[in-house]
This record gives sequence, C-alpha cells and structure tokens, in this order.
Amino acid sequence: MARNNVDVLIAGGGFAGLTLAIALRQALGPSFAVTVADPALGKTYAGDERASAIVAAVRRLFESIGVWERVEHEAQPMLDMVITDSRLEDAVRPTFLTFAGEVEPGEPFAHMIENVLLVDALTVKAREAGIDLRPTAVANFNKSSGSAQHIDVTLADGAALAPRLLVAADGARSGIRSRAGITTHGWDYGQSAVVINVAHERDHDGRAEEHFLPAGPFAILPLKGRRSSIVWTEPTAEAERIVALPDAEFHAALEQRFKLQLGEIKVLGPRRVHPLGFFVARSFIAERIALVGDAAHVIHPIAGQGLNMGLKDVAALAEVIVDAARLGLDFGAADALERYQRWRRFDTMAMGLATDGLNRLFSNRSDVLRVFRDIGLGLVDRLPALKHLFIREAAGLVGEVPKLLRGELL
Ligand SMILES: Cc1cc2nc3c(=O)[nH]c(=O)nc-3n(C[C@H](O)[C@H](O)[C@H](O)COP(=O)(O)OP(=O)(O)OC[C@H]3O[C@@H](n4cnc5c(N)ncnc54)[C@H](O)[C@@H]3O)c2cc1C
Repeated sequence: MARNNVDVLIAGGGFAGLTLAIALRQALGPSFAVTVADPALGKTYAGDERASAIVAAVRRLFESIGVWERVEHEAQPMLDMVITDSRLEDAVRPTFLTFAGEVEPGEPFAHMIENVLLVDALTVKAREAGIDLRPTAVANFNKSSGSAQHIDVTLADGAALAPRLLVAADGARSGIRSRAGITTHGWDYGQSAVVINVAHERDHDGRAEEHFLPAGPFAILPLKGRRSSIVWTEPTAEAERIVALPDAEFHAALEQRFKLQLGEIKVLGPRRVHPLGFFVARSFIAERIALVGDAAHVIHPIAGQGLNMGLKDVAALAEVIVDAARLGLDFGAADALERYQRWRRFDTMAMGLATDGLNRLFSNRSDVLRVFRDIGLGLVDRLPALKHLFIREAAGLVGEVPKLLRGELL
C-alpha cells in the first residue's frame, strides 16, 4: 500500500491535538506537514456543558497562536476567588481565603469559557491554516524499530501514513497509549462531578467560589452574563442519585449548596456526571510516539488544572519539535522525545499529587483536620507575598515555562 509521508500525525482533535497542530504550522510553515485525525472532527460537542478555567499562561498561548481574539468576547475574566470550608447544614459559611486574581496589572489569573466554543474556534483556525484534518480514527500502528525514521500508521478509513512522530492526544482512554504498551499509575476517587450551568438574577462580578464541603468541593465558576458553571463533587453513587432526582428535588439540593446570594437560580441544559480519577502514564514517550493532554495524565478538577496541564505539554512538545526541526535534527528520535519527557513528567506528578492531597485534605468529615486546615487557610490569607506566589503558580507562570506560555512565538 502506498504510504503518505507526513512529518507529524496527531491522533485526537480536542484542545491538546488542535493546539499543537496550529503551533507547529505557525512556527514551521506549510512545508512541515501536520495531519490531525479524529472521528469527532467538525462535529459540535452537542450536550457537553463543561466549561474550563483557562489560566493566564494558557491564555497567552492562545493569544500567540491567534485563537484568543476569536473567543475573548465569550470568556469571563475571573476577578477574585473565595474559598470556604463548612458543613452542608451550616447556615453561614465563613470565608477563609480570598484571592484577588491578577498576575500582572490588568491580567486576570484565569478566564472561564465553555469548552465547545474553544474547540470550535481551534477547529476553524486549524482549517484556515491549511492543516490536513481527517475525520477518522487512528486504527493501528506498527511499533517502530530503533533504526526506522518513521512509524507506520493505519487510519480507520484505510489510509496509510508514515509520520516521523505520532502524537497521542486521544484523551483519557488513549488507545495509542495502551497499544504502545504504556501503563498508568493512579486511582479512582470513588467520586464523580455533577456538572451543570445555571442562570441567576444578580451579577457574579467575576467572582469564583469554592466551597469545601465534607462530600467534596462545590465550585461556582463565573460564565459570561448572569450565568455560572457548577462543578459539584459527591461520592459516585450519591452523584448518580442526585442527577436522577425530579426537577424540584434537584433544585432544592442545588440551592442548599449554592445559597441565594445571587438571587433565584435556574438550571440551564442537561445535568451530567463525570467520574473522577487520577492517573499519570508511566512514560510520556515510546519509540516515535509522544503522549500529551489527558492521554498522559488525568487529575482531580479541584483546582481546575487538567486542561491547563495538557496545554503545558503541548507548549513544551511544540518547542522541542521546532528546536530540533530548525537544526535539521530528527525531532521524532529518542533524544528529542526524552527532552520533552524530562520537561513535563516531574511537573505533572507534582501537580497531580498536590491536587490529590487537596482533595484528601478537604473531602472528609474529620473535625480535627478541619481545625488544622482552617488555621492553614487563615495564615495564607494574611500573607500577601505567599498569596501572590500561589496565584502565579496556579496561573502556570512558575518554573521552566515554555515560550508559548510566556506569550512568545516559537
Ligand atoms: C468535571 C470536569 C471539570 C473540568 N474542569 C477543568 C477546568 O476548569 N480547567 C481545566 O484546565 N481542565 C478541566 N478539566 C479537564 C479537561 O476537561 C481535560 O483535561 C481536557 O478536556 C482534555 O483535553 P484533551 O485534548 O487531552 O482530550 P479530549 O478533549 O478528551 O480529546 C481527545 C480527542 O481524541 C479523539 N480520539 C479518541 N480516540 C482516537 C483515535 N483512536 N484516533 C483519533 N482520535 C481519537 C476523541 O474523539 C477526542 O476528540 C475538567 C474535567 C472534568 C471531568
């Protein structure tokens, strides 16, 4: 069968895959052939009501690749954040920690935006940039031998490609990761997130709230207009019971957690449950293969960092590929891929374990732990320098930050 040579084949046209394709195209021009294959390409994520907090570093990346200007008017700046620690039945929730969220003057530490708007904008930009988009899956590949300069890949529509690098951006259940023999380590939380959007009577003024309740965090994240996205964590059986409740009972359970500070609330769209787990791939690379995004790691949404971590992978991998390609080196060879893995794997473990620790610290009913964590939160609240460092860390601006995340071109 005739094999079509491409430089990079990306499996998966979600946030991670499309962003990588656009960044490579922008840096290396049309002579560098990039193909994205995904059966879901061009289909709107109907019924996906999820929204994401895009941290400042990732917004800079979207700005650099010319996507932010297309969605900015739909994105809600997060201007401050309030954290409370209370029991469900408490009538008043004392505030333990507040963050006024600017990383630089005039630059909010995060924006909220609906996933579907961002993926649509990335797809349109990729199409305009002339990237080869194929609405089909990566079906199979032969493990490359060390001496080969490419990897043989077959798509579900029968096409055969021979890229120098295959990127697995095919999500948490990555078939490429398992076919490459890469195992993961991690665990299920036995928790699920009920995700809904609500409309409310009063303005949220760009304020995000995270209420640490014994069953798990209940986050209210501001969307454009008088709307908010709710990520409501419960033990899985309880989450499934809650979404199946009749409307009036569901509304009562929601109101007990949301309270009435924004006036009457109304649920918009469907209620969905997302099971939560934590895992990290034991390796981010294999022979001529690199894993990015959820294919490489999935973390608890408690700090809203999953997608942002995936885009850090993308920024680091893009930089590694571009640096090697400009020097005429083989960007799919082991030394280039090792550089990518060194850059990202430690940071990923650190963030994964930090979010895991946060979830364990807060999702429990121990009054002793509660006293200690509230003293801790109270102390942080009184130390502006420490708060500023936390904000910059959460915004993705601490450590060895790839160029795209600093807002620089490759
Ligand atoms: C409740 C919840 C709330 C969250 N909130 C936040 C937040 O506020 N901030 C944040 O940063 N993150 C958040 N996340 C995490 C974030 O949603 C994910 O990290 C992100 O969607 C992963 O993007 P991705 O491109 O890696 O994978 P995906 O979006 O899963 O894309 C994978 C793509 O691969 C395709 N595919 C699968 N198999 C193949 C194949 N064989 N060949 C080709 N294509 C294939 C699929 O069709 C899909 O389009 C949250 C997650 C949850 C569950």
